[in-house]
Amino acid sequence: MDKTIVLSTHNKGKLVEFEGLAERLGLKIITRDEAGIPHDFDVVEDGTTFEENSYKKAYEVMKMCGLPTMADDSGLMVDALDGQPGVYSSRFGGVEGDAVRNYTKLLKMMEGLKGDERKAHFTTVITLVYPDGETIVSKGECHGHITEEPKGELGFGYDPVFIAEGFDKTFAELGPEVKNGVSHRAKALEELERILSER
Ligand code: IMP
Repeated sequence: MDKTIVLSTHNKGKLVEFEGLAERLGLKIITRDEAGIPHDFDVVEDGTTFEENSYKKAYEVMKMCGLPTMADDSGLMVDALDGQPGVYSSRFGGVEGDAVRNYTKLLKMMEGLKGDERKAHFTTVITLVYPDGETIVSKGECHGHITEEPKGELGFGYDPVFIAEGFDKTFAELGPEVKNGVSHRAKALEELERILSER
């Protein structure tokens, strides 16, 4: 089986995480650029579920380059906010990809919440689409809670305000090595590897 897979993302943080994980799992990840996808080719993430968005990101890039392509769609869900920010995680604060605005808005909305009321989880759905149309979907979750203030410089997105179960430091303090062992993306990628190895 050809283990080269295009990763449909512009997000460098994700690419680094996927490369680390993929190396462990014997997959070779190449970037959109390496697959010849024009830099300004953008996939509009207008789905209402992680499944829809990840499929769209993988399928449209696969159509352009003709190579197996995978995409993930992920987000943070806070129990007390009925699952917000969810699929809108990256633009929650009003500006696409502005992590500080996003988590600042979240912390504001969660002011006064204590203990279990701060429970949250990240979800990742990975979709791998082959040129013949075969599609594989995997999912991973990472449970934890939202801190009262941001801490740490590493990672991206909501990492400075998320503490995973079993830890007392945010993902932004722990860094990628520890995060890759427990993250939603790690779990989704492990499930994907398990599915691939059983084919
Ligand atoms: P995407 O749509 O999959 O690119 O991700 C949506 C958003 O979810 C990102 O822009 C981040 O705000 C958030 N997110 C997803 N995964 C993580 C993570 O591992 N750490 C922190 N934030 C994340």
